Amino acid sequence: MFILKGINQLERAIEKAKKLRPRVEFDAFGRYRVSGSKGGYYTVICKKSENGYKTVECRCKGAEKGLVCYHAAALAVHTGIARQRQAVA
Ligand SMILES: [Zn+2]
Repeated sequence: MFILKGINQLERAIEKAKKLRPRVEFDAFGRYRVSGSKGGYYTVICKKSENGYKTVECRCKGAEKGLVCYHAAALAVHTGIARQRQAVA
């Protein structure tokens, strides 16, 4: 899981998401399924924490290590989080 503090953090992952174009499917409120590069789906959960940051939780190995993965980036693009420009330092 990582805390989304600004779009800059996602730039690289978004580039990757644009190349790979994973499918994003709505699953339940705040929960999405994003297709993986080797088939199958990862569950990505997007929440707003008490301090106003968005937290993104993906079940892939990269995200487990705290990395910003392209699944989360794909979700950010899909839901419009990526359009928010108020980066918090
Ligand atoms: Zn992921």
